Amino acid sequence: MCREFVAICRKLDLLSKASVAIHGSKFKAVNARDKNFTQAKMKRRLERIDESIARYLSQLETADRQAAAGADVPAAKVTRLKDKLAKLREEIARLNAINAELQASPDKQVSLTDPDARSMATSGKDTGIVGYNVQAAVDTEHHIIVVHDVTNVGTDRRQLANIARLACEGLGAKTLEVVADRGYYEGSEIKACADAGITVTLPKPQTSGAKAEGRFGKQDFVYNAADDIYRCPAGEQLTFRYTSEEDGKILRRYWTSACAACPLKAQCTTGPERRIRRWEHEAVLEAVQARLDKNPDAMKLRRQTAEHPFGTIKGWMGWTHFLTMTLPKVAAEMALNVLAYNMKRVMAIVGVRALVEAAQA
Ligand code: SF4
Repeated sequence: MCREFVAICRKLDLLSKASVAIHGSKFKAVNARDKNFTQAKMKRRLERIDESIARYLSQLETADRQAAAGADVPAAKVTRLKDKLAKLREEIARLNAINAELQASPDKQVSLTDPDARSMATSGKDTGIVGYNVQAAVDTEHHIIVVHDVTNVGTDRRQLANIARLACEGLGAKTLEVVADRGYYEGSEIKACADAGITVTLPKPQTSGAKAEGRFGKQDFVYNAADDIYRCPAGEQLTFRYTSEEDGKILRRYWTSACAACPLKAQCTTGPERRIRRWEHEAVLEAVQARLDKNPDAMKLRRQTAEHPFGTIKGWMGWTHFLTMTLPKVAAEMALNVLAYNMKRVMAIVGVRALVEAAQA
């Protein structure tokens, strides 16, 4: 139905720009946080129970000693402590059974109410939810959701190429302009988009340790493709030395022998020399940066575009809870929300009559 409706939008000429903003948003599942277990959460809960058991055992021993010394220890107190210990031991047995399930699961995580819901971080500091990650490609002109996808993967890093390709198909376009946030920055995803004729603009996450510590970052080294060298801030040439493979990526290493005598060395490296690594497809990433430099408003466009539909849908859903459980049902629930959003959006743009006529044509 969502695909059919997008086809109607195309008939109405509302999706002629082939330009989308890709955005992911987390929606809570029915599953409560304390009914979701990761290895870290399980460890914390078992440790807390062990601490409580140690405390009650110590109180019980004290009561026994006092009773042996002739003190009047109320029997109710001893019974209460023993009951608490029994309950905690029952809880350990329950948690051990869940832990066995958790260890056998592929992603070392168990959700008791909705087995497909997953613990995921959200943008707020130290906040997280148990839920689903909804991906959407939103048309930058009319804010219509071209495609969406519901996943239970907590990060956006591996989502870009898939959702961009789906958007390209949904629009029936041969090429597509995409803006996304830095959470989608992953070399192989950007390369897959480039190979499919999709032009992506997104910022690079600031992960350079050298830059954070006040030294030159990689962006301060200028690559010269014709000579395959980097020029450093001191004007020295860093030449290609060797190739290595990391996480399936071929990386080329460059450095110069001039570092030891360089007056800028303290601002550059703490090692014997500064080494720069270059992914074999780095040119694709440089093209992304060049596009962003040329169009600094791209991120403003992304925010304005992608936050409109998600904000509206979340407002409708009230506290952003899904009402259904398991991925197929949650996906259907989301599709209904997307369809309702798109219908209201198109009605607001072209009016009900034009929409009905286009649907009947
Ligand atoms: S330390 Fe080496 S790479 Fe860094 S600026 Fe000096 S010569 Fe260039």
